[in-house]
Amino acid sequence: MFIVSEMKLTDEQRDRYSRMLALRDFSENDMETVMNTTVALIGAGGLGSPSLRLLTAVGFGRIRIIDRDIVELSNIQRQTVFNTKDIGMPKAEAAAANLNLMNPEVSFDPICVSISEENSIDVLKGADIIIDGLDSFKARRAVNRASLALGIPYVFAGAVEYYANLTTFIPGETGCLQCVMGDAKDNPENTCALVGVSPMLLSLAASVQVNEVLNLALGREPALVNRLMTIDSNTLNFDFFDIGKASDCEVCSAPVKYTPSGTNELRVTQLCSQSFNIAPEKMMSLDLESLASKLETRYSVKRMKRFLVVETPSEIKITIMPAGNLVVKGVSNADEATKLFHDIIAESN
Ligand SMILES: [Zn+2]
Repeated sequence: MFIVSEMKLTDEQRDRYSRMLALRDFSENDMETVMNTTVALIGAGGLGSPSLRLLTAVGFGRIRIIDRDIVELSNIQRQTVFNTKDIGMPKAEAAAANLNLMNPEVSFDPICVSISEENSIDVLKGADIIIDGLDSFKARRAVNRASLALGIPYVFAGAVEYYANLTTFIPGETGCLQCVMGDAKDNPENTCALVGVSPMLLSLAASVQVNEVLNLALGREPALVNRLMTIDSNTLNFDFFDIGKASDCEVCSAPVKYTPSGTNELRVTQLCSQSFNIAPEKMMSLDLESLASKLETRYSVKRMKRFLVVETPSEIKITIMPAGNLVVKGVSNADEATKLFHDIIAESN
């Protein structure tokens, strides 16, 4: 983030942001700083949706929206950046289109990838602040490493049912995700599909996150530096715990040299609506136009702006995104979905 001294707000911007500018500690210079800040949001889901709406309304200059999934009906109860007509669209693309209607002053970079150890640096470099809307420790570990490697602050949150945890990691100043979470694993019995998640909890947690992002952008001390905040949205209990850097943390204190496996393993995840997300570890760069022409000889192909929707004669629906991740709907198991992935990717060579 940087201040461009010659940059001046237009009359329209002064009007749009007048209630920010009226805050007693928020100047035109601060607004210009916000407008020159790039925020990378990973996971445009339950937490990411309210965060995105706030980041856009406040007027952050550039928002990178990173998500691997497509919009499903069961998302809309809490993922308030989507409309029912967006079902089937890649989330990053649908979010960018909807948010652009709210505030066309903001530039959006939708990136349809599944974040991994192999791609996290490429996906996050150039951002000033990272904001977490993820739901898995595996993905968060990749983000944590990239945050440290790139020196980018990382505003962490996790939320399920009525409970959320939040903190802000600043490389060199605080501990990191590994210091706090150790080798914690995702609990398959505690997912939002099984125990649910309150949309009101998500809005509360997202508001805290965006407040942290704003403080970071303005060079002010965020409230959750070296503190873990917990929210119970049923009782409205907000608790705070001091946390710090673990002297033996193998990621930030005594780093063990980490090299990604280098294999290009496929990650197959079953989504809520019996569809499968298949993503290669390494980002691909598919030529969607030429792929569409080849697939058209066998399937029905719908060309969208930055993705393809393919339907097979047996009514299997496949959404293809340029980085090589696919969402396959209508198959009965992961093997069937993986086979289709290989068939389609073979056509792109
Ligand atoms: Zn650490």
